[in-house]
Amino acid sequence: MTSNTSTGHLSQALAGLPRFTQDPAELELVRTDRSGYVPPTLPDGVVQAESVQDVVQTLTLANEHRIPVVPRGAGTGLAAGSSACRGEIVLDVRRMNRILRIDPVEQIAVVEPGVLNADLNAAAGEYGLFYAPDPASTAICSIGGNIATNAGGMRCAKYGVTRESVLSLTVVLADGRVLVTGTETIKAVTGYDMNALFIGSEGTLGVVVEATLRLRPAPVATATVAAYFRDVAAAAAAASAVVAARATPSVLELVDGPTLGAIDLATGTDHRRRGEAFLLAQTDGFGAEIERDVVLRAIEPFAESVLIAEDPVEAEALVQARRDAIPSLEKLGRTSIGDVGVPRNRLAEIVTGIQQISQDTGVDIYTVAHAADGNLHPMIVVAEHESITQGAPKDALGRMFELARSLGGTLTGEHGVGLLKQDWFTAEVGEVSRDLQHRIKRAFDPNNILNPGKAI
Ligand SMILES: Cc1cc2nc3c(=O)[nH]c(=O)nc-3n(C[C@H](O)[C@H](O)[C@H](O)COP(=O)(O)OP(=O)(O)OC[C@H]3O[C@@H](n4cnc5c(N)ncnc54)[C@H](O)[C@@H]3O)c2cc1C
Repeated sequence: MTSNTSTGHLSQALAGLPRFTQDPAELELVRTDRSGYVPPTLPDGVVQAESVQDVVQTLTLANEHRIPVVPRGAGTGLAAGSSACRGEIVLDVRRMNRILRIDPVEQIAVVEPGVLNADLNAAAGEYGLFYAPDPASTAICSIGGNIATNAGGMRCAKYGVTRESVLSLTVVLADGRVLVTGTETIKAVTGYDMNALFIGSEGTLGVVVEATLRLRPAPVATATVAAYFRDVAAAAAAASAVVAARATPSVLELVDGPTLGAIDLATGTDHRRRGEAFLLAQTDGFGAEIERDVVLRAIEPFAESVLIAEDPVEAEALVQARRDAIPSLEKLGRTSIGDVGVPRNRLAEIVTGIQQISQDTGVDIYTVAHAADGNLHPMIVVAEHESITQGAPKDALGRMFELARSLGGTLTGEHGVGLLKQDWFTAEVGEVSRDLQHRIKRAFDPNNILNPGKAI
């Protein structure tokens, strides 16, 4: 075994790790995520954990030898949270991918962290149930990663983000101890909410090795509509009108004109000919069609044209347009996907402001949004050889964060801070919160071995 670490002492420690490899091809695979960030060097090695015991053994040894560990699920993150470089090892839990139990009466699932979101949904579907958090990356992202980032998705407008679906976690702490948080019950308020502490902690407090998740009954009916608009501000105003009408669509997604153009280019559709912005809405449950009509009445005054899906095939085609957005943009070059959030009545202001930032900085920015959550994904696309962490792209990112904050919003609604948004973290949370968060980190991980430099 060859090592690119600096000391023999460290090489010896690494040799004691379970399922450890330093194969350069494997290291290349776990070097980064889908954020567009490429670390300057490769990590020292990767543990391909297959059991809780592998994770315990890895963290115990790493803690003893002060080896920084980057937990990794499926590597689809968008904040460079699982990126790793020289001096660090990666703890990859993708192979821990068993669905341990589905209880259709209690409506819960117990899973290992490497289970893919879509696989859990397929399994739950056999019992007439579903797992609500549905990132657009559902087919490729892991439940452990979803928990560590508090992932959202299209259905979160109605069903909440990952936090609302986690009942209990088993976590291996930095020193190798195993902690169980929460219970299998729907309600539990004994002590502090330890589940919430780990959800969204981006691998900095512990490694999730098992999760008990809440499932929900699959809706008896869904209804889908879409509309095209003359500009993105009109689409944003229509989305705010849906919220103001007290409708609760399970999906309310906005796509701007440039993104429609990219989807057309990649898939051969003709969205952009129909409008400069697209809004997709889906209602579900017993009153799906009644609620769809409330949505329609809210949207129509702003829209150029409206489409009502007559059957599941037409509905799926409309939803697909939104799903195609990110993969289509990724074909144009290196992408950096923003994740700002604003109060929902400020949507029109932020989409107009983002267009202005694009003009001022000369950076191409494409926007899609989970409109019912006020959560936007402005995507910067640069040429493959260009950096997203310097120059005009970084300037544009910073300006978007500042704009969101000035509108009462946040720099990240669902992707996390990772490595890429560190510069703006304190501006949002404030010095007092930052200090407390660092103290929490020290309480869990006094030697700072778990994903150091990320999240907080
Ligand atoms: C095309 C595309 C669409 C996307 N759409 C959405 C969307 O709609 N909504 C959304 O929220 N996100 C979206 N994402 C982002 C991404 O899929 C989510 O952040 C997802 O939750 C990451 O899961 P992962 O398994 O890939 O985690 P990774 O990228 O491997 O890791 C993400 C973070 O979690 C930590 N981590 C991973 N596993 C564990 C574990 N077991 N224990 C502790 N820490 C762990 C890592 O250290 C890292 O900090 C999208 C990404 C892509 C590429």
